[in-house]
Amino acid sequence: MSNTFDIRLSQNRTPAEERQRILDNPGFGQYFTDHMITIQWTEEEGWHDARLQPYGPLTLDPATAVFHYGQELFEGLKAYRQADGSIVTFRPYANAARFNTSCERMAMPPLPEELFVRSLELLVDTDRDWVPTNVDSSLYLRPFLIATQRGLGVNSPSSSFMFVVIASPSGAYFTGGIKPVSVWLSEDYTRAAPGGTGAAKCGGNYAGAFVAQSQAVREGCDQVVWLDATEHRWVEEMGGMNLFFVYGSGADARIMTPALTGTLLPGITRDSLLQLAPDLGIPAAEGRISTDEWREGNASGELTEVFACGTAAVITPVGRVKGTNGEWLVGSGEPGPVTMRLRDELVGIQYGERTDSYGWIHKTA
Ligand SMILES: *Cc1c(COP(=O)(O)O)cnc(C)c1O
Repeated sequence: MSNTFDIRLSQNRTPAEERQRILDNPGFGQYFTDHMITIQWTEEEGWHDARLQPYGPLTLDPATAVFHYGQELFEGLKAYRQADGSIVTFRPYANAARFNTSCERMAMPPLPEELFVRSLELLVDTDRDWVPTNVDSSLYLRPFLIATQRGLGVNSPSSSFMFVVIASPSGAYFTGGIKPVSVWLSEDYTRAAPGGTGAAKCGGNYAGAFVAQSQAVREGCDQVVWLDATEHRWVEEMGGMNLFFVYGSGADARIMTPALTGTLLPGITRDSLLQLAPDLGIPAAEGRISTDEWREGNASGELTEVFACGTAAVITPVGRVKGTNGEWLVGSGEPGPVTMRLRDELVGIQYGERTDSYGWIHKTA
């Protein structure tokens, strides 16, 4: 299909004063803009019926496939207000590419990357007044794809799908200073196994994770850390974020993140830091670390900082670790200098305060 959208503007937009009240304190994922994008796919027609339309409920038959077998995947990225009032997104083509990798694993039809990015541009441009101007605020974009075939047959993927993009203003993740999180090393539950869907950004991965996250909270921790499915000892991810380990300090600091074994989600923030850090004089590598090595590294002082990274919270320091074999602090338990330096550099690029020498910033509206 051509990238033409049927434009149906809302006749009932949120009044300016109410929108401003929301933007002053949006939280995360609570409020949505006035419009959304939908594009349909069928075997006969491929992608068709692209629309920008008023934000509102989807009406689906109770026998729609997505409700029963969870054939669904999503993406997440942000639009950032620049000092000159323009709006950019961060590496949207990387999200488009990952969306299609997820599609392949979930037996869903890939969406042309141009159409993916065009959808974001159209929604952000239409709802541009919803992009906050406050420090560390942004408009979170949530593209997703659902199986829409009606029927309970379980032997084949859906023959029709709907792509949707919604947008939600998002406030500063940390209010009142960056606060390190505590993590629970989950030995009882597995997020992803070899050959499974761990590398695809699908809702099912999250559905299976809530029970472990609840266990982490019962253990007095903020977040769950996932370990490998076989030995329950190799560190993979934290909740919905990738992890980085900082060894050494000062001019000798270097960072390591668990390698993409197929059971980890290939984060775009993770990939960006692997490129950015060496240019700041911080060598970066992919590797592996066991829970024992983590504890021993913190005890000896060789491992100085640990942080998690992802689009929503950018970079979050890990301050305390708890597992079945005990509990320990990462460094002093406070945010470390390497963590904060990387955070400042990345956020600086996203908000246009630092030069983007990587071509990551995409002018969107
Ligand atoms: C989305 C996600 C991430 C982070 O990816 P980004 O592209 O950096 O936002 C990490 N782990 C999981 C499980 C995720 O779903």
